[in-house]
This record gives sequence, structure tokens and C-alpha cells, in this order.
Amino acid sequence: MTIQASCHCGAVRFSVETAPAELNSCQCSICRRYGTLWAYYRPREVRFDADSGPTDIYMWGDRELEFHRCRTCGCVTHWSALDQTYDRMGVNARLMAPEVVAAARI
Ligand SMILES: [Zn+2]
Repeated sequence: MTIQASCHCGAVRFSVETAPAELNSCQCSICRRYGTLWAYYRPREVRFDADSGPTDIYMWGDRELEFHRCRTCGCVTHWSALDQTYDRMGVNARLMAPEVVAAARI
């Protein structure tokens, strides 16, 4: 079942083919402030809509990860690693339907 996700304004949209079984309510210094719930996927498993809008990027610490947020509404959408060989990224499950979040283990 395809799971759709969208920021508040709808500019940034992506989908994944499998619902997340587990979500990480990360308590690191940045994620607890964002209030994100991370679902982890391989980058090739996350399909951004072709007309998905631009994001702004925040980096901190050792600057290995880019935290993306919608340029229009500010919702944190995902993080990706600068290292292209790192086969993992995080998407913010808060952008998915509430039922999807409710069905996952946090
Ligand atoms: Zn938006």
C-alpha cells in the first residue's frame, strides 16, 4: 500500500511503498525541537513527486546530514546524508496520515 506524505501547504510531497513499522521519536538536540517522528528508508524507496516544491536545508554539528524543510510552510520533511553511499534517510512520519503513525511502534 502506497503511503503518501505531504507538508502542510502541499508543496513538498513524497510517497513510500511500505508503511513504517517503527518510528523514532529522536531526542537529540535538533529532533526534540523539531518534534519529528522519523521513519527510515533507503533513499530509492522514497519517491518525491515530480513537481514537489523546493526545500531549505539546515546542517549542524559534523554536518553529515541535511535536514530539509518546506520553503513555504516550514514543515520538516526529511533528512538525507551528504555521503551518497549512505543507504539510509529519514522521513518525517508526522507528514503521513495519523492512522499510519498510530499503527506504528514508537
Ligand atoms: Zn509546505
